[in-house]
This record gives sequence, structure tokens and C-alpha cells, in this order.
Amino acid sequence: MDYFLSEEQQMIVDIAKQITDERIIPSRAELDEKNEFPRQILNEMAQADLFGVPIPEEYGGFGGGCLDIVLTLEQFGRGCLGVGTAFAANFLGVYPIIIAGSDEMKQKYLPDVASGKRFGAFGLTEANAGSDASGIQTTAVLDGDEWVLNGTKQWITNGGEAQIYSIVAITDRSRGPRGASLFVVEDGDPGFSYGVKEKKMGIRASSTTELIFKDCRIPKDRLIGRKGTGFITVMKTLDLSRPGIAALGVGVAQGALDEAVRYAKQRNQFGKPIIAFQAVQHMLADMAMGIESARALVYSAAKHIQEHPKKMTKASAMCKAYATDVAMKVTTDAVQVMGGYGYMCEYPVEKMMRDAKILQIYEGTNQIQRNVIGQELNKEYL
Ligand SMILES: Cc1cc2nc3c(=O)[nH]c(=O)nc-3n(C[C@H](O)[C@H](O)[C@H](O)COP(=O)(O)OP(=O)(O)OC[C@H]3O[C@@H](n4cnc5c(N)ncnc54)[C@H](O)[C@@H]3O)c2cc1C
Repeated sequence: MDYFLSEEQQMIVDIAKQITDERIIPSRAELDEKNEFPRQILNEMAQADLFGVPIPEEYGGFGGGCLDIVLTLEQFGRGCLGVGTAFAANFLGVYPIIIAGSDEMKQKYLPDVASGKRFGAFGLTEANAGSDASGIQTTAVLDGDEWVLNGTKQWITNGGEAQIYSIVAITDRSRGPRGASLFVVEDGDPGFSYGVKEKKMGIRASSTTELIFKDCRIPKDRLIGRKGTGFITVMKTLDLSRPGIAALGVGVAQGALDEAVRYAKQRNQFGKPIIAFQAVQHMLADMAMGIESARALVYSAAKHIQEHPKKMTKASAMCKAYATDVAMKVTTDAVQVMGGYGYMCEYPVEKMMRDAKILQIYEGTNQIQRNVIGQELNKEYL
């Protein structure tokens, strides 16, 4: 379908598609098997200037909007969700700086991110604070000209691979939701270390680790925005980032459909290609309809977010929940269409199905997205 992309947007798609077809798809099985971080591929994305897409022009980027980054992530998701997750989490890590950082902070970090020299990650989750982020225990206390951080973050994407970490910590517990603040912690800061790298069901090319802060001292000016505005910036960050997760969902679903159709055309049973059976055709038709409707929702939500940055929440939650549910269903159905072969590692759809599951969990589970949509509806209807 024609989504009326601009010339620049089509160019972004073409570059991301080329990297996906030539670099990601040929290496995804090996990256998955070895749990290997795709450093080389990310370097090539940087050389193609894709890290600059959402970075403002005055800080060395292209000043692209939500739709521009969605288009890159859709392609990377089609290739490998592990690689796509690493790319997406980099921006999750730097959106707080773009949203709330001072000009000096932006000058310090964003040009390096745009050029791919430094890489980002985002640390909110803790062992006892997942969906309910208000339960975080990590603290930051001002001591002279330095903040001192103590606590442990869990399951942080790009942990150990990134150089710039946006970390949420409690600065004044008595102030409830206004008691959290965001900080930039850099790789190598004293008192900052990484825990074990998690073993996962899917997205194995992405790194997931603990971040450990033991009297971690950082300069005073690493506070992002004002003290006490941490959760507000976190919410804006997630609103901006979730359409990218939705786009990863559209991408992996498209990749699975491509595989399933190709297979159904060449697999013969009962003397004919299985695509000749109506039951198989209907499954493929439902997959195609799901993908196209998810894509339409993700693109229009991203465009809406670009044009109405103060009204992101509902559109963002809707496209994240819908497109990632579609991704789970389509990848599962692709395995079904391919029967036993679909279950084997020889074909890519088993990996796509394993990978797709995370999309319904991270950046807020799809139950939480539905809560958000419900709350927004409740506010809209008087
Ligand atoms: C591979 C991976 C990468 C991740 N990367 C990052 C990262 O880079 N940075 C980061 O900060 N975090 C990251 N996370 C954490 C992720 O965002 C959380 O796992 C997620 O928000 C859910 O929290 P939880 O796992 O603690 O589940 P819980 O909050 O314990 O939820 C368990 C179940 O209960 C449901 N539930 C909970 N509360 C409600 C409610 N109010 N209404 C309805 N249902 C509810 C949930 O939907 C879920 O089904 C990552 C997680 C994984 C697995």
C-alpha cells in the first residue's frame, strides 16, 4: 500500500532495507546462537548515518520525527529483533536527554550518539519495580558537587555495551511521584558496574544486564532536567519510543509472512502446493490483514506524535499493544503454516516467534498499554 512517504523517508527505508537484507538477515542465526552483540552491524548503521535520524540538527543529527525512526525500525525488525532492539534501546537511552536535557548536556552527548561513537541505554526497571515503576529503590543523594547513586537496575538492554545510561533514581522519597529524577551515568564512572548478561528466550543478539551502583559518584550536572521530574520525563520518553517497538512488531510480522508465503508456494502435500488449500490461504490472508492494519496504525500514530507532541500517550500505547499482538499472532501462525519445518532452526520463523514475545512485555506490557488507553478514554469522555 502507498503510505505517501516523502522522498527523504523513502531514502531512509531504502538504506535500512539494504542493511537488513545484506547484513542483518545473513548473520541473524549466528548472532542468535552465539548470543552475540551486533557491534559491526551497528557500526555500519552509524556509517549510513541512521543513528542521526531522530537527533536534532543542531546536535549533529537529521532532526527526523517519530515516523522516520519507525521506518528504520520496521526494516530492522523484519531482519532480526535482537539487532532492532539494540538500535531502539539506544534511542530510549537518549530520548530523556533530547526531551529534558540542558543545551550543554545535549552538546556533550548527542553529536556522539548521532555519529555512532557513543551508544545509549535506559535504566528504570528493578527486581521489585517492573510495571509499577514507583517501587524503585535506587537512590541518588547530592554530596557537595556530586550525586551519589546506590541501587541495582535489572534487565537493561544494551547493558555493558552502551556508554551513556539514563538512570532513574529516587531523590526525595517523601515526594512520591515527584521524588524521582533522571541522571546520565557513563560507562567507567566510579562505583558503576554490570551484573551478569541474561540468557533469554529470544532477542539474543541484544545484551540484557544488571546495572549496579555502589556509591557511584557522578558530577552534579549529570541531572537530566530538574530534580523531581524523573517520572514525567520517563513517561514522555516511553510515549516517544513505543511506536518504534510497534514498528519492530510490524517488521517481524512482515518477515514471517514473507517466509510463510514462499514456503506455502513450494511445499507440496496431497499432490499440490499447500497454498492451494483454503485453510492455509485464509491463515495467510489473516496474517496479511493484521500486518497492513498494524502498519497503518503505527504510521498514523507516529505522524500524530510528530505533529502533536503533547498528545502522544493514547496513540503510542494503542499502536504498541496492537502491532505487537499482531506480531505474536503472525509469527506463531507462520510456524503453523510451515508445519514441522517451521519449528526447526533451519528456517527463521521459530526465531521470529521466540523473539516476538518480548514485544508484548518490554517498554510496558500490553496489559499496561490497555490500562493506559482505558485511562485516556476515561479522561476524554466527560
Ligand atoms: C529482555 C528485556 C529487556 C528489557 N529492557 C529494559 C530496559 O532497557 N530498561 C528498563 O528499564 N527495563 C527493561 N526491561 C523491563 C521491562 O520493561 C519489564 O519487564 C516490564 O515493564 C514488565 O515488568 P515485570 O517484568 O516486572 O512484570 P510485572 O510488572 O511483574 O508484571 C507481571 C504480569 O502482571 C501484569 N500486570 C502487572 N501490573 C498490572 C496491572 N496494573 N494491570 C494489569 N496487569 C498487570 C503484567 O502485564 C504482566 O503480565 C526489559 C525486560 C526484558 C525482559
